[in-house]
Amino acid sequence: MVVSAHAGDWLWRSGGAIGKVVQDGGEAVIVALSFGERGESGELWKQPEQTVENVKKIREREVRSAAAVLGAAVHFFDLGDYPLIVDRAALDRLTELMRDFEPDAVITHTEMDPANPDHPEAHRATVLARKLAIGAGVPAAFKTITPPALYVFEPHHTELCGFSPNTYLDITETFPRKTEAMARMAAQQYMVDHYTQRAENRASFGRRFGRNQAMRYAEAFQRLIPEVVDTL
Ligand SMILES: [Zn+2]
Repeated sequence: MVVSAHAGDWLWRSGGAIGKVVQDGGEAVIVALSFGERGESGELWKQPEQTVENVKKIREREVRSAAAVLGAAVHFFDLGDYPLIVDRAALDRLTELMRDFEPDAVITHTEMDPANPDHPEAHRATVLARKLAIGAGVPAAFKTITPPALYVFEPHHTELCGFSPNTYLDITETFPRKTEAMARMAAQQYMVDHYTQRAENRASFGRRFGRNQAMRYAEAFQRLIPEVVDTL
């Protein structure tokens, strides 16, 4: 489950992870807390007499199309952006979705992002929903789920957000589909080169740290909750 502040954030930063899990027979679900109608739709606002409602419609179409390429379902919360505010009702909805879907892994934004007011809000809500879904408080009083792994994806401004990757995911196999999904985001085509280069860059680090020398494209994540293992 990927929780994205704006409609497109999930794709650039974790589209490969989503494509990979589906390719391997798993399921992926995306929560888009807003359509990114003000924050990430710059190209659309260049059109004269553009409206918020129309921008939202176009973003929804693009995002559904990109998610379909990767085989993921999308839930749009339509909470508005700049600022994004996740209120009690939205928090309950997110928690319910988490309880229903019972994800193995939850991915969201970093806790800190000096360039963006909405990404930390998505982080806060996701961490809180996860705690509620796994039964913080009195577990017996709620339906609870097995604690999913918690990751943050790589932010746009890596260093400024205190992001320190400890997980590199090989997305080489699924990268053609991520590329196709990125092509569906007509309003943000300026992002494609940037995230293609980053995937190459992350793969070069991954080759250094891992055993897979064939890795061409990778996504970086930071795992926030300790991993429990039987053996090292
Ligand atoms: Zn965003």
